[in-house]
Amino acid sequence: MAVPGSGQIHVHEYEAVIVGAGGAGLYAALEASSACRTAVVSKLHPMRSHTGAAQGGIGAALGNLEEDRPEWHAFDTIKGGDYLVDQEAAVILAEDAVRAVYDLENRGLPFSRTPEGRIDQRRFGGHTRNLGEAAVRRSCYAADRTGHMILQTLYQQCIKNQVAFFDELFVLDLLLEGRKVAGLVALELATGELHVFRAKAVLLATGGFGQMFRTTSNAYANTGDGPALVLRRGLPLEDMEFFQFHPTGIRGMGILITEGVRGEGGILRNRQGQRFMERYAPTLLDLAPRDMVSRAIMEELKEGNGIRGDRKINDYVHLDATHLGKELIEAKLPDIADFCRTYLGIDPADSPIPVQPTAHYAMGGIPTDNDGCVLASGDGAAGGLSGSAGGAAAGAGGGARGLPLVEGLYAAGECACVSVHGANRLGTNSLVDLVVYGRRAGQHIAGFVKQADSASPGSEPEGPSRERLERLFDGKKGPHGGHIREEMRDLMMEKIGIYRKGPAMQEAVRDLEALGERYAEVRTQDSSGRFNTDLLEILELGNLLDLALVTAASAGHRTESRGAHAREDFPERDDEGWLKHSLVWLEDAQTRIGYRGVDVSRWKPKPRTY
Ligand SMILES: Cc1cc2nc3c(=O)[nH]c(=O)nc-3n(C[C@H](O)[C@H](O)[C@H](O)COP(=O)(O)OP(=O)(O)OC[C@H]3O[C@@H](n4cnc5c(N)ncnc54)[C@H](O)[C@@H]3O)c2cc1C
Repeated sequence: MAVPGSGQIHVHEYEAVIVGAGGAGLYAALEASSACRTAVVSKLHPMRSHTGAAQGGIGAALGNLEEDRPEWHAFDTIKGGDYLVDQEAAVILAEDAVRAVYDLENRGLPFSRTPEGRIDQRRFGGHTRNLGEAAVRRSCYAADRTGHMILQTLYQQCIKNQVAFFDELFVLDLLLEGRKVAGLVALELATGELHVFRAKAVLLATGGFGQMFRTTSNAYANTGDGPALVLRRGLPLEDMEFFQFHPTGIRGMGILITEGVRGEGGILRNRQGQRFMERYAPTLLDLAPRDMVSRAIMEELKEGNGIRGDRKINDYVHLDATHLGKELIEAKLPDIADFCRTYLGIDPADSPIPVQPTAHYAMGGIPTDNDGCVLASGDGAAGGLSGSAGGAAAGAGGGARGLPLVEGLYAAGECACVSVHGANRLGTNSLVDLVVYGRRAGQHIAGFVKQADSASPGSEPEGPSRERLERLFDGKKGPHGGHIREEMRDLMMEKIGIYRKGPAMQEAVRDLEALGERYAEVRTQDSSGRFNTDLLEILELGNLLDLALVTAASAGHRTESRGAHAREDFPERDDEGWLKHSLVWLEDAQTRIGYRGVDVSRWKPKPRTY
């Protein structure tokens, strides 16, 4: 049988091609398909996208149970992100969240209800009433299966809109003509054949990349393929040093226990049974933002207050939900109860849950404007914020931040950086980001393709992808990618984890460069053309290594502590020197760093206390 890439080439032509079938990709496809021929290309079946794992809810100031306002939501988002959030983008997020939730409801999403039949809401970390007074009920949820319900709802709507789905195709390359999108190249996993998609617009919605860490809540497929494609095309990524650790992963496994457990009243306790968050966040307690709660847990472990108590890495704390009662847990947190029974052999109604922080969410990613248009550069730019992209005609000339765009290239969802999460995302704000900015990108695409000319992908656009595959099958003997992957995950956990120090980060960069050299020698050990998962893992590993390198390099450069980036050698936030987004390029395996300004037009940065 032919090795992957050497057989037939399939050529397709669409106006818009969406890469990824999670919440962001599906919402964008839904909007784009109302105006143009749209295809979705996904390495997984849409219903297996990681959005399906989202548990606790989607934030929107509906005010169904107590007074709430989008303005408060926007402020919490900005403060939660340690003021690295672009404030106009956060205001759009919070205001449009309300419409987005009702839109999902109208499209059939079965939200949990209050006794009066309204959408029920629960508390979540960092979401407050009246600019920080007390926790507010803002998270709209469907038990602890909110993401799954969003996927179901959007997928069926896309089918209705006749979106063409290409499932289990792995995108290998982005086709550009100068600064204009021409399409993409993908590998069909079932056959090993290459597909060329010609398109006027391509949107990347490939999700997160938590797989670069040893302990993570992220699925095996979360390998950052979209951001890695962008890097390889000479474009920058933004704010890559900010990676969120969620405080409550199941001890030793990283599987997530939703913040919704604390939203329903669950309490974190140390070895002595103390509610230790009283000492770290006296107002919001267990519902402080994730960066703070994760650090509080690490402090408890360092003090010997972890359970086991020997200050070792496998110390942990307890998440106590026993006082919530079986009925509430089974009604509002049924999947969490199942996880506890399956993975821990305990019932959370009877026993506390052993938890540790787990690598969870990428705040950084592909820089975009507020319509999802990808920004091409921004080197040294400070400020330069000029409102919206100015409708469908925004081309290679100027983007929302006064920066050049890549015409026809879009990004949305976790792989993008709008930036609404800044240095630390609040819980429930990723699902809002997907539906608000996925929709805006889809709408912009619908307008853009009507007036844009097709770019030429050149002759044999699949050539570079085919050569890359041929090399992996050239019969030479190389190291196994699995070992490199394990080393990368360990070193990222150890040196680019919750707490960071300059020398360790420099070491991480050197180690990752060395792993990159070893990776260049890796060859496939399975020569089959069909469902070659060995090949798939090698391709994904290459993407993870690139992203790990730019993450470590960006972290090493930022000599302050802000949000999820906590440096032991620079423990304070430094607004004078560092109130700026970082941009990172990867050129010949070397990183280059630049910066651009933050939009702080609404609320001036203040110390962050809860
Ligand atoms: C356990 C867990 C619980 C969470 N709970 C919440 C919550 O309650 N509230 C909240 O706001 N956020 C939550 N989050 C975060 C949120 O779920 C994610 O950030 C979000 O779902 C990501 O959506 P996405 O559309 O960007 O990507 P995904 O849903 O991850 O989809 C990515 C898509 O890209 C495709 N893809 C990737 N690479 C390629 C490639 N090379 N070629 C083709 N296709 C490709 C995949 O097949 C997939 O379809 C949670 C996250 C986790 C891990």
